[in-house]
Amino acid sequence: MSSEHLSGSGDLFLLSAPSGAGKTTLIHGIRERIADEGELVFSVSHTTRGPRAGEVDGRDYHFVDAAAFQQMIAGDAFLEWAEVHGNYYGTSRQAVIPFLAAGLDVIVDLDVQGAERLMHAFPTAHSIFVLPPGYADLVRRLGGRGLDDPEQVARRLAVSRWEIRRYESYQYVIVNDDLERASRALAAIVLEKRQRRARQQSRIDRVLADFERSGGADPGS
Ligand code: ADP
Ligand code: 5GP
Repeated sequence: MSSEHLSGSGDLFLLSAPSGAGKTTLIHGIRERIADEGELVFSVSHTTRGPRAGEVDGRDYHFVDAAAFQQMIAGDAFLEWAEVHGNYYGTSRQAVIPFLAAGLDVIVDLDVQGAERLMHAFPTAHSIFVLPPGYADLVRRLGGRGLDDPEQVARRLAVSRWEIRRYESYQYVIVNDDLERASRALAAIVLEKRQRRARQQSRIDRVLADFERSGGADPGS
């Protein structure tokens, strides 16, 4: 896949973690935490997995059947897609590109295979890996969530053992020990990117124009 051109756009954040490490909780939390600082768009993926209790079609995922998913692959609708835990998951162009083009930041929750593909396609993307504090915590969280059947939990735990070793592909690692601390760390990464001079040019221009208009004497003259 060729590199996508992102000049002048919002920032793209790629977030991966073993299932149950807390990605969804962190993403939900950070969008509320930084709401006053401007929107962070969540890229709603397509999946062939069935909805869990409480999940809403179009908000958490676009839930589709295998035929619809294959049709989207054939129509080149995805930036990336992968088979994860026996189901298909994909990030559509539509879920990402229009928002970036409008200058908004976008966060994508995706597995390590998909993240590595998007890192190549979007070299300016910021990649973050979330680790649970330990294996027993992951077991507890997956069980405690109570939304996957025992076979799915076992599958997710087995996959987690190789997923965590892919952390080296990512620029940032957050250990999700204490939720408040981990959530602050994620917010810090997103907010730091927003303070870059290049991101703030139109705001800077407004401040400078305001000074121009105020017409004060130049102390050097
Ligand atoms: P993921 O999206 O990575 O699969 P979730 O966000 O659904 O994971 O989190 C899995 C479970 O762990 C949820 O029940 C969530 O409330 C819990 N959880 C998330 N972060 C923490 C944390 N720091 N400490 C304790 N429990 C957590
Ligand atoms: P879950 O079924 O627990 O919601 O997600 C299972 C796995 O699929 C997680 O690792 C999650 O990050 C990943 N995933 C969710 N959406 C996408 C996507 O659009 N693309 C890819 N490659 N993985 C995804």
